[in-house]
Amino acid sequence: MSRVYNFSAGPAVLPEPVLKELAEEMMDYQGCGMSVMEMSHRSPEFQKIIDEAEQDLRDLMNIPDNYKVLFLQGGASQQFAMIPMNLMKNGVADYIVTGQWAKKAYQEAQKYGKVNKIASSEDKTFSYIPDCSDLDISPDADYVYICENNTIYGTKFKTLPNTKGKTLVADVSSCFLSEPVDVSKYGIIYGGVQKNIGPAGMVIVIIREDLITEDVLPGTPTMLTYKTHADAGSLYNTPNAYCIYVCGKVFKWLKSMGGLEEMKRRNEEKAKILYDFLDESKLFKGTVEPESRSLMNVPFVTGDKELDAKFVKEAKAAGFVNLKGHRTVGGMRASIYNAMPKEGVEALVAFMKKFEEENA
Ligand SMILES: *Cc1c(COP(=O)(O)O)cnc(C)c1O
Repeated sequence: MSRVYNFSAGPAVLPEPVLKELAEEMMDYQGCGMSVMEMSHRSPEFQKIIDEAEQDLRDLMNIPDNYKVLFLQGGASQQFAMIPMNLMKNGVADYIVTGQWAKKAYQEAQKYGKVNKIASSEDKTFSYIPDCSDLDISPDADYVYICENNTIYGTKFKTLPNTKGKTLVADVSSCFLSEPVDVSKYGIIYGGVQKNIGPAGMVIVIIREDLITEDVLPGTPTMLTYKTHADAGSLYNTPNAYCIYVCGKVFKWLKSMGGLEEMKRRNEEKAKILYDFLDESKLFKGTVEPESRSLMNVPFVTGDKELDAKFVKEAKAAGFVNLKGHRTVGGMRASIYNAMPKEGVEALVAFMKKFEEENA
């Protein structure tokens, strides 16, 4: 068996101890004689899996009792519609557009009401986070929306916007569980799990209870109503059971590693190795303003498209895969999520140094 260092933005690297446990339990989950994939979602065994997953996530993030945790399908993208359908009581929302995913959410919301773009960083190809300390928040906005970590551009909100009392909704797909958060500052925190937690095909929505109502936009499908899933404990219909099980294992792994404080320390340490190198390199340079740099997604370029392509190709041959930048940005991007070990980042930097010398 040989494993590569996988720098994919998502689906992404998972912790090896978790993958090993999954393999061990594949044929016979704890004496059931079957895999979790083959198990009824109404069985006591599965109920225990989902209950423990939720409790471990609550422990990790210190989720207050007045928030529900929902395990839903449709990925993060489905939330782009589900959020306005459920939250737009006045039919108004404010969006901060800091990248492709925020832009998609902003465009989708326009189908459901009046949507204001109150800040954007599109003028400089989304390479920074705008100052959001005193924005023109609409008096009747039902919520203010952000994408907290911009997976494609590699920027991250270091301080949350001042929403002037309005409900904050955040897409945290690519920074989920990378550091501690104060859940009480948000109305909704949600993320697709395939970036930093588990396999693709599920989104976790952490939502304050007062936002879960029957008063949704007319025509909202049952399946797209938060209340449906909240009332049924995420078991209204057959959930992505295997994904919930894998996520649960990752939560236990995170706890065993020391929780989110420790993940933050590790993630800062790993990102520093890469950013320090980019800052001193004569060949490679980061594309993001230093104050807005993400700990999770690190885009960089040589400034020469052919050299970028050569680097990606040689890196792949050396066991560093998925370093090609997003098709809209070009260059390279190293995603260094929780499960990427420090050794992986050190080895990448050593490889980049060698490439730099060879191509000077
Ligand atoms: C990947 C990603 C999405 C889309 O996730 P899907 O599960 O594919 O819908 C949305 N937002 C952010 C920030 C992402 O990184």
